[in-house]
Amino acid sequence: MQITKHAVASIHYTLTDNDGNILDSSAGRQPLTYIQGIGNLIPGMEEGLEGRLKGDKFNLKVSPEKGYGIKNNQLVQKVPVAAFGGQEVKVGMQFQTNQGSVVTVTHVGLGEITVDGNHPLAGVELNFAVEVMDIRLATDDEIAHGHVHGPGGHHH
Ligand code: ZN
Repeated sequence: MQITKHAVASIHYTLTDNDGNILDSSAGRQPLTYIQGIGNLIPGMEEGLEGRLKGDKFNLKVSPEKGYGIKNNQLVQKVPVAAFGGQEVKVGMQFQTNQGSVVTVTHVGLGEITVDGNHPLAGVELNFAVEVMDIRLATDDEIAHGHVHGPGGHHH
């Protein structure tokens, strides 16, 4: 069968930026298992995977618009050091805001800390090397829940 809406696909992938740095990879882990067509993956991945077959190996280039979005400078904010309650803050640390979003520390100044609420991959062109390992139909329960059950998914 092909990867179409409500197919459960298992894929191995390696994600690199345009400089060839590996940002993420399923190598050495279980393949990523997801339900096609319901927003489990970024839009560019779902588009590129649509219609593929088990065993297909291919490269996908995904623009920020179809990946993790373009960078929104309004999400970059300076916060007084005191807001961190005296804990040591370093560049790269991530915090959850009171609104539930995640911010990443991008600069630590003397009195102020700069945090960025953009996804770390916002504005980045993504290069995926993909191999389709398996494809099956989703069960009614999986479609209702919006996630995969069993190997590579939820156990409940
Ligand atoms: Zn479930």
